[in-house]
Amino acid sequence: MRFDVITLFPEMLAAVSGQGITGRAFKQGLWELGLWNPREFTHDAHRTVDDRPYGGGPGMVMMVDPLEQAVDAARAQRLRQGPVLLMSPRGRRFDQPLAQSLVDGGGAILVCGRYEGVDQRFVDRCVTDEVSMGDFVLSGGEIPAMAIMDASVRLLPGALNDAESARQDSFNEALAGLLDSPHYTRPEVYKNQRVPAELLSGHHARIAVWRREQSLTLTLHRRPDLLQQARKAGLLTDADERFLARLAGSAAS
Ligand code: SAH
Repeated sequence: MRFDVITLFPEMLAAVSGQGITGRAFKQGLWELGLWNPREFTHDAHRTVDDRPYGGGPGMVMMVDPLEQAVDAARAQRLRQGPVLLMSPRGRRFDQPLAQSLVDGGGAILVCGRYEGVDQRFVDRCVTDEVSMGDFVLSGGEIPAMAIMDASVRLLPGALNDAESARQDSFNEALAGLLDSPHYTRPEVYKNQRVPAELLSGHHARIAVWRREQSLTLTLHRRPDLLQQARKAGLLTDADERFLARLAGSAAS
């Protein structure tokens, strides 16, 4: 897997290639990172990458030519092409299935906007999809690009050790796309709050049932949409449905 990031602030991206799980996977050679600064693809003395918007208004707009040249240079380095994704609040919301599809496709070129955004002609000419982190506005696409790479790298076989296993994360398949259950570690009692007895029982089946029921309860309360999805995909067991029916019964009484 390889990511190429088009950014005016390449040094920011050291956070993913240098640290933590993504950094370890990078050092192991599980994924590659190419950094491309549009400023390197300018031809004027000031190395201009942005200009005022036609039609007026505040802020600056990133110019099409340095961006397109940076994308072309990145493409030339890639064995598998993959999509060109523009970070943008107007885009499709990033989620776990999209992360998985990037892993399956060998990565992507990620374009980070700055200022008011990028010239629309760059979008029309080069961009496969616009991807958003959510309904808020950041000052640049670098943090979204890092989020996309982090979510993707941790899905690579070998990126996580057993203790970190992705199979137990929220949204993943073993959990049927449900939210993760609560976690506890030592001490057993903290300021009168005890760790739930089920987790101390040493009884694996009981612990599994407790975790599953916690996941179902949390998902029902916080993200009923995910529960519906799981049901439609046939990922809920008879035991799950019986538990949910009991929950609904006790909520009604
Ligand atoms: N004028 C734009 C916002 C520009 S913010 C608008 O109102 O839509 C500058 C850059 O930050 C954007 O070009 C984009 O690359 C990035 N960005 C900001 N918020 C984002 C979000 N929620 N998701 C993904 N990228 C975002």
